[in-house]
Amino acid sequence: MRHLPATMQAMVLESPGSPLVYKTVALPVYSEEQVLVKVIACGVCRTDLHVVDGELLHPKLPLIPGHEIIGNVVRTGANVSSLKEGDLVGIPWLGYTCGKCKYCLSNKENLCDNALFTGYTIDGGYAEYTVANQQYCFLLSSAYKDPSKTPLLCAGLIGYRSYIMIGENAKTIGMYGFGAAAHILIQLAKQQGKHVYAFTRDGDMAAQQFALKMGAIWAGNSSQQAPVKLDAAIIFAPVGKLVPKALTDTDKGGVVVCAGIHMSDIPSFPYDILWEERTLRSVANLTRKDAHDFFKVITDIDIKTETRLFNLQEANEALNCLRNGEIKGAAVLKIG
Ligand SMILES: [Zn+2]
Ligand SMILES: [Zn+2]
Repeated sequence: MRHLPATMQAMVLESPGSPLVYKTVALPVYSEEQVLVKVIACGVCRTDLHVVDGELLHPKLPLIPGHEIIGNVVRTGANVSSLKEGDLVGIPWLGYTCGKCKYCLSNKENLCDNALFTGYTIDGGYAEYTVANQQYCFLLSSAYKDPSKTPLLCAGLIGYRSYIMIGENAKTIGMYGFGAAAHILIQLAKQQGKHVYAFTRDGDMAAQQFALKMGAIWAGNSSQQAPVKLDAAIIFAPVGKLVPKALTDTDKGGVVVCAGIHMSDIPSFPYDILWEERTLRSVANLTRKDAHDFFKVITDIDIKTETRLFNLQEANEALNCLRNGEIKGAAVLKIG
Protein backbone atom coordinates (compact mmCIF):
# COMPACT_ATOMS: atom_id res chain seq x y z
CA MET A 1 0.00 0.00 0.00
CA ARG A 2 1.39 3.33 -1.06
CA HIS A 3 2.36 5.67 1.75
CA LEU A 4 0.12 8.73 1.96
CA PRO A 5 1.16 12.17 3.14
CA ALA A 6 -0.64 13.77 6.11
CA THR A 7 -1.26 17.01 4.24
CA MET A 8 -1.96 18.19 0.72
CA GLN A 9 -2.05 21.38 -1.34
CA ALA A 10 -5.44 22.82 -2.20
CA MET A 11 -7.07 25.95 -3.56
CA VAL A 12 -9.56 27.04 -0.91
CA LEU A 13 -12.52 29.42 -1.01
CA GLU A 14 -12.60 31.14 2.38
CA SER A 15 -15.26 33.71 1.59
CA PRO A 16 -17.29 34.17 -1.61
CA GLY A 17 -16.24 37.12 -3.69
CA SER A 18 -12.56 36.78 -2.81
CA PRO A 19 -9.86 34.82 -4.67
CA LEU A 20 -9.08 31.23 -3.77
CA VAL A 21 -6.16 30.73 -1.39
CA TYR A 22 -3.38 28.22 -2.09
CA LYS A 23 -2.99 26.33 1.17
CA THR A 24 -1.61 23.27 2.86
CA VAL A 25 -4.51 21.38 4.43
CA ALA A 26 -5.02 18.01 6.09
CA LEU A 27 -5.60 15.03 3.82
CA PRO A 28 -9.39 14.46 3.72
CA VAL A 29 -10.84 11.68 5.86
CA TYR A 30 -12.88 9.03 4.03
CA SER A 31 -15.86 7.24 5.55
CA GLU A 32 -16.84 3.57 5.21
CA GLU A 33 -18.80 4.35 2.03
CA GLN A 34 -16.17 6.57 0.48
CA VAL A 35 -12.99 6.33 -1.52
CA LEU A 36 -9.94 8.56 -1.23
CA VAL A 37 -8.86 9.70 -4.68
CA LYS A 38 -5.56 11.15 -5.86
CA VAL A 39 -6.63 13.84 -8.30
CA ILE A 40 -5.09 13.76 -11.78
CA ALA A 41 -6.97 16.78 -13.08
CA CYS A 42 -10.05 18.86 -12.41
CA GLY A 43 -11.96 20.85 -15.01
CA VAL A 44 -13.01 24.42 -14.31
CA CYS A 45 -16.75 24.76 -14.80
CA ARG A 46 -18.75 27.98 -15.07
CA THR A 47 -20.59 26.86 -11.93
CA ASP A 48 -17.29 27.16 -10.03
CA LEU A 49 -17.28 30.80 -11.06
CA HIS A 50 -20.82 31.29 -9.72
CA VAL A 51 -19.79 29.64 -6.42
CA VAL A 52 -16.59 31.69 -6.06
CA ASP A 53 -18.38 34.92 -6.98
CA GLY A 54 -21.11 34.25 -4.41
CA GLU A 55 -23.94 33.92 -6.93
CA LEU A 56 -24.78 30.45 -5.61
CA LEU A 57 -25.76 30.86 -2.00
CA HIS A 58 -24.82 28.63 0.95
CA PRO A 59 -21.63 26.87 -0.13
CA LYS A 60 -19.75 24.87 2.49
CA LEU A 61 -17.02 27.16 3.88
CA PRO A 62 -14.13 26.94 3.72
CA LEU A 63 -14.59 25.08 0.44
CA ILE A 64 -12.41 23.30 -2.08
CA PRO A 65 -14.25 23.88 -5.40
CA GLY A 66 -14.22 21.68 -8.50
CA HIS A 67 -16.54 18.98 -9.77
CA GLU A 68 -15.04 17.69 -13.02
CA ILE A 69 -12.56 15.37 -11.36
CA ILE A 70 -10.54 12.50 -12.74
CA GLY A 71 -8.25 10.58 -10.42
CA ASN A 72 -7.10 7.26 -9.05
CA VAL A 73 -8.53 5.53 -6.00
CA VAL A 74 -5.80 5.25 -3.35
CA ARG A 75 -7.86 4.08 -0.35
CA THR A 76 -11.30 2.49 0.00
CA GLY A 77 -13.68 2.64 2.95
CA ALA A 78 -14.62 -0.57 4.79
CA ASN A 79 -17.96 -0.90 2.96
CA VAL A 80 -16.71 -0.10 -0.52
CA SER A 81 -17.14 -3.07 -2.82
CA SER A 82 -17.53 -1.54 -6.27
CA LEU A 83 -14.11 0.11 -6.47
CA LYS A 84 -10.57 -0.85 -5.60
CA GLU A 85 -7.22 0.84 -5.23
CA GLY A 86 -5.78 1.92 -8.56
CA ASP A 87 -9.15 2.31 -10.29
CA LEU A 88 -9.54 5.38 -12.47
CA VAL A 89 -12.70 7.26 -11.49
CA GLY A 90 -14.62 10.34 -12.53
CA ILE A 91 -16.30 12.47 -9.86
CA PRO A 92 -19.15 14.77 -11.00
CA TRP A 93 -21.32 17.50 -9.45
CA LEU A 94 -23.90 15.15 -7.90
CA GLY A 95 -22.15 13.86 -4.80
CA TYR A 96 -24.94 12.33 -2.73
CA THR A 97 -28.72 11.82 -2.75
CA CYS A 98 -30.93 10.53 0.06
CA GLY A 99 -32.77 7.81 -1.86
CA LYS A 100 -35.90 8.49 0.23
CA CYS A 101 -37.49 11.78 -0.84
CA LYS A 102 -40.24 11.93 -3.46
CA TYR A 103 -37.77 13.00 -6.13
CA CYS A 104 -35.36 10.16 -5.44
CA LEU A 105 -38.29 7.74 -5.48
CA SER A 106 -39.47 8.96 -8.90
CA ASN A 107 -36.23 8.82 -10.88
CA LYS A 108 -35.53 12.50 -10.33
CA GLU A 109 -32.59 12.25 -7.97
CA ASN A 110 -31.17 15.35 -9.64
CA LEU A 111 -33.85 17.25 -7.68
CA CYS A 112 -33.26 15.45 -4.35
CA ASP A 113 -34.16 17.60 -1.33
CA ASN A 114 -31.08 16.39 0.52
CA ALA A 115 -28.55 16.23 -2.29
CA LEU A 116 -24.93 17.20 -1.78
CA PHE A 117 -22.87 18.66 -4.57
CA THR A 118 -19.17 18.22 -5.20
CA GLY A 119 -17.22 21.45 -4.98
CA TYR A 120 -20.21 23.28 -3.47
CA THR A 121 -21.65 21.59 -0.39
CA ILE A 122 -18.85 19.02 -0.16
CA ASP A 123 -15.20 19.55 -1.00
CA GLY A 124 -14.17 19.05 -4.60
CA GLY A 125 -11.16 18.60 -6.80
CA TYR A 126 -9.05 21.77 -6.71
CA ALA A 127 -6.67 19.75 -4.54
CA GLU A 128 -4.20 16.89 -4.64
CA TYR A 129 -6.69 14.49 -3.02
CA THR A 130 -10.45 14.31 -2.58
CA VAL A 131 -13.03 11.87 -1.27
CA ALA A 132 -16.17 10.62 -3.01
CA ASN A 133 -19.09 8.36 -2.15
CA GLN A 134 -18.66 5.05 -3.95
CA GLN A 135 -22.11 5.22 -5.55
CA TYR A 136 -21.48 8.70 -6.95
CA CYS A 137 -18.25 8.26 -8.81
CA PHE A 138 -17.78 6.41 -12.04
CA LEU A 139 -15.27 3.77 -12.96
CA LEU A 140 -13.59 4.97 -16.15
CA SER A 141 -11.47 3.14 -18.70
CA SER A 142 -7.84 4.23 -19.09
CA ALA A 143 -8.91 6.14 -22.22
CA TYR A 144 -10.15 8.84 -19.84
CA LYS A 145 -6.88 9.27 -17.95
CA ASP A 146 -6.03 12.48 -19.79
CA PRO A 147 -6.80 15.92 -18.24
CA SER A 148 -8.54 16.88 -21.49
CA LYS A 149 -11.32 14.43 -20.59
CA THR A 150 -12.36 16.22 -17.36
CA PRO A 151 -14.91 18.55 -19.05
CA LEU A 152 -16.96 15.47 -19.94
CA LEU A 153 -17.79 15.13 -16.22
CA CYS A 154 -19.98 18.24 -16.14
CA ALA A 155 -19.98 20.20 -19.38
CA GLY A 156 -20.50 16.90 -21.17
CA LEU A 157 -23.11 15.57 -18.77
CA ILE A 158 -25.19 18.75 -18.52
CA GLY A 159 -24.97 19.14 -22.28
CA TYR A 160 -26.20 15.59 -22.67
CA ARG A 161 -29.10 16.03 -20.24
CA SER A 162 -30.14 19.18 -22.11
CA TYR A 163 -29.88 17.31 -25.39
CA ILE A 164 -32.20 14.57 -24.09
CA MET A 165 -34.71 17.25 -23.03
CA ILE A 166 -35.08 18.67 -26.54
CA GLY A 167 -36.29 15.30 -27.82
CA GLU A 168 -34.81 13.06 -30.46
CA ASN A 169 -36.87 14.51 -33.31
CA ALA A 170 -35.24 17.93 -33.13
CA LYS A 171 -33.12 18.27 -36.25
CA THR A 172 -32.10 21.94 -36.28
CA ILE A 173 -30.64 22.91 -32.92
CA GLY A 174 -29.49 26.31 -31.70
CA MET A 175 -26.69 26.45 -29.11
CA TYR A 176 -26.41 29.80 -27.35
CA GLY A 177 -22.95 30.21 -25.87
CA PHE A 178 -20.31 28.07 -27.51
CA GLY A 179 -17.99 27.00 -24.72
CA ALA A 180 -17.16 23.82 -22.88
CA ALA A 181 -20.60 22.18 -23.04
CA ALA A 182 -21.48 23.12 -26.61
CA HIS A 183 -18.17 22.05 -28.11
CA ILE A 184 -18.63 18.59 -26.59
CA LEU A 185 -22.33 18.24 -27.37
CA ILE A 186 -21.95 19.28 -31.01
CA GLN A 187 -19.81 16.19 -31.64
CA LEU A 188 -22.60 13.92 -30.47
CA ALA A 189 -25.29 15.94 -32.28
CA LYS A 190 -23.32 15.88 -35.53
CA GLN A 191 -22.80 12.16 -35.32
CA GLN A 192 -26.58 11.80 -35.02
CA GLY A 193 -27.18 13.90 -38.12
CA LYS A 194 -28.33 17.11 -36.42
CA HIS A 195 -27.72 20.62 -37.76
CA VAL A 196 -26.22 22.90 -35.15
CA TYR A 197 -26.51 26.70 -35.25
CA ALA A 198 -24.06 28.36 -32.87
CA PHE A 199 -24.73 31.75 -31.28
CA THR A 200 -21.90 33.54 -29.48
CA ARG A 201 -21.33 36.88 -27.76
CA ASP A 202 -21.73 39.59 -30.38
CA GLY A 203 -18.50 40.06 -32.29
CA ASP A 204 -16.72 37.03 -30.82
CA MET A 205 -15.31 35.91 -34.15
CA ALA A 206 -12.89 33.50 -32.49
CA ALA A 207 -15.77 31.59 -30.87
CA GLN A 208 -17.70 31.61 -34.15
CA GLN A 209 -14.71 30.24 -36.07
CA PHE A 210 -14.29 27.62 -33.35
CA ALA A 211 -17.96 26.58 -33.67
CA LEU A 212 -17.63 26.23 -37.44
CA LYS A 213 -14.45 24.20 -37.02
CA MET A 214 -16.29 21.91 -34.61
CA GLY A 215 -19.01 21.31 -37.19
CA ALA A 216 -21.69 23.98 -36.75
CA ILE A 217 -23.38 24.63 -40.07
CA TRP A 218 -23.84 28.28 -39.13
CA ALA A 219 -22.32 30.54 -36.48
CA GLY A 220 -23.20 34.12 -35.68
CA ASN A 221 -23.91 36.76 -33.06
CA SER A 222 -26.53 36.10 -30.39
CA SER A 223 -28.38 39.22 -31.49
CA GLN A 224 -28.68 37.92 -35.06
CA GLN A 225 -31.85 36.19 -36.14
CA ALA A 226 -31.41 32.47 -36.79
CA PRO A 227 -31.21 31.80 -40.55
CA VAL A 228 -33.84 29.02 -40.22
CA LYS A 229 -36.56 28.29 -37.68
CA LEU A 230 -34.99 26.04 -35.02
CA ASP A 231 -36.60 22.86 -33.74
CA ALA A 232 -34.94 23.41 -30.39
CA ALA A 233 -32.55 25.69 -28.57
CA ILE A 234 -30.15 25.09 -25.70
CA ILE A 235 -28.92 28.13 -23.79
CA PHE A 236 -25.53 27.54 -22.18
CA ALA A 237 -24.64 31.19 -21.58
CA PRO A 238 -25.85 32.56 -18.20
CA VAL A 239 -27.62 35.43 -19.92
CA GLY A 240 -31.35 35.84 -19.25
CA LYS A 241 -32.03 38.02 -22.28
CA LEU A 242 -31.17 35.04 -24.48
CA VAL A 243 -34.39 33.34 -23.36
CA PRO A 244 -36.81 35.53 -25.37
CA LYS A 245 -34.28 35.59 -28.21
CA ALA A 246 -34.12 31.79 -28.35
CA LEU A 247 -37.93 31.56 -28.16
CA THR A 248 -38.13 33.93 -31.13
CA ASP A 249 -35.72 31.74 -33.11
CA THR A 250 -37.62 28.55 -32.26
CA ASP A 251 -40.34 27.04 -34.41
CA LYS A 252 -43.87 26.06 -33.33
CA GLY A 253 -43.82 23.18 -30.88
CA GLY A 254 -40.11 23.67 -30.22
CA VAL A 255 -38.26 23.44 -26.93
CA VAL A 256 -35.93 25.97 -25.32
CA VAL A 257 -33.72 24.53 -22.59
CA CYS A 258 -31.84 26.68 -20.10
CA ALA A 259 -28.81 24.59 -19.22
CA GLY A 260 -27.11 26.86 -16.70
CA ILE A 261 -27.31 26.62 -12.95
CA HIS A 262 -27.40 30.40 -12.68
CA MET A 263 -28.72 32.99 -15.11
CA SER A 264 -29.25 36.75 -15.04
CA ASP A 265 -32.89 37.90 -14.92
CA ILE A 266 -35.06 37.14 -17.91
CA PRO A 267 -36.65 40.28 -19.37
CA SER A 268 -40.42 40.21 -19.89
CA PHE A 269 -41.49 39.15 -23.35
CA PRO A 270 -44.67 39.02 -25.46
CA TYR A 271 -46.77 35.89 -25.08
CA ASP A 272 -46.62 35.53 -28.86
CA ILE A 273 -43.16 34.02 -28.79
CA LEU A 274 -44.18 31.27 -26.34
CA TRP A 275 -47.56 30.64 -27.98
CA GLU A 276 -48.00 27.71 -30.37
CA GLU A 277 -46.83 25.15 -27.86
CA ARG A 278 -43.27 26.19 -27.46
CA THR A 279 -41.79 24.81 -24.26
CA LEU A 280 -39.40 26.68 -22.00
CA ARG A 281 -37.63 24.67 -19.32
CA SER A 282 -34.49 24.45 -17.23
CA VAL A 283 -32.20 21.52 -16.57
CA ALA A 284 -30.92 21.06 -13.04
CA ASN A 285 -27.96 18.93 -12.01
CA LEU A 286 -27.78 15.38 -13.32
CA THR A 287 -28.74 11.85 -12.38
CA ARG A 288 -26.34 8.94 -12.18
CA LYS A 289 -28.27 7.39 -15.06
CA ASP A 290 -27.45 10.43 -17.22
CA ALA A 291 -23.78 9.77 -16.60
CA HIS A 292 -23.98 6.08 -17.39
CA ASP A 293 -26.03 6.74 -20.54
CA PHE A 294 -23.70 9.50 -21.68
CA PHE A 295 -20.52 7.49 -21.34
CA LYS A 296 -22.22 4.61 -23.16
CA VAL A 297 -23.41 6.83 -26.02
CA ILE A 298 -19.98 8.41 -26.55
CA THR A 299 -18.03 5.14 -26.44
CA ASP A 300 -17.70 5.05 -30.21
CA ILE A 301 -17.38 8.76 -30.87
CA ASP A 302 -14.01 9.60 -29.31
CA ILE A 303 -15.07 13.08 -28.21
CA LYS A 304 -12.25 15.58 -28.61
CA THR A 305 -12.04 18.49 -26.24
CA GLU A 306 -10.23 21.77 -26.63
CA THR A 307 -8.64 22.59 -23.29
CA ARG A 308 -6.26 25.08 -21.79
CA LEU A 309 -4.23 23.63 -18.93
CA PHE A 310 -3.38 25.46 -15.72
CA ASN A 311 -1.49 24.38 -12.59
CA LEU A 312 -3.39 24.02 -9.33
CA GLN A 313 -1.97 27.34 -8.05
CA GLU A 314 -3.29 29.05 -11.17
CA ALA A 315 -6.96 28.32 -10.43
CA ASN A 316 -7.76 32.02 -9.91
CA GLU A 317 -6.23 32.83 -13.27
CA ALA A 318 -8.24 30.03 -14.91
CA LEU A 319 -11.45 31.37 -13.35
CA ASN A 320 -10.62 34.90 -14.51
CA CYS A 321 -10.01 33.72 -18.07
CA LEU A 322 -13.36 31.92 -18.02
CA ARG A 323 -15.08 35.00 -16.59
CA ASN A 324 -13.64 37.15 -19.37
CA GLY A 325 -14.55 34.75 -22.16
CA GLU A 326 -10.89 34.05 -22.92
CA ILE A 327 -11.14 30.26 -22.86
CA LYS A 328 -11.73 28.44 -26.14
CA GLY A 329 -13.34 25.17 -25.07
CA ALA A 330 -12.60 24.45 -21.41
CA ALA A 331 -10.07 25.33 -18.72
CA VAL A 332 -8.55 22.43 -16.77
CA LEU A 333 -6.33 22.25 -13.68
CA LYS A 334 -3.64 19.62 -14.18
CA ILE A 335 -2.83 18.42 -10.69
CA GLY A 336 -1.40 14.90 -10.32
ZN1 LIG B 1 -33.66 12.44 -2.16
ZN1 LIG C 1 -20.27 22.06 -13.78
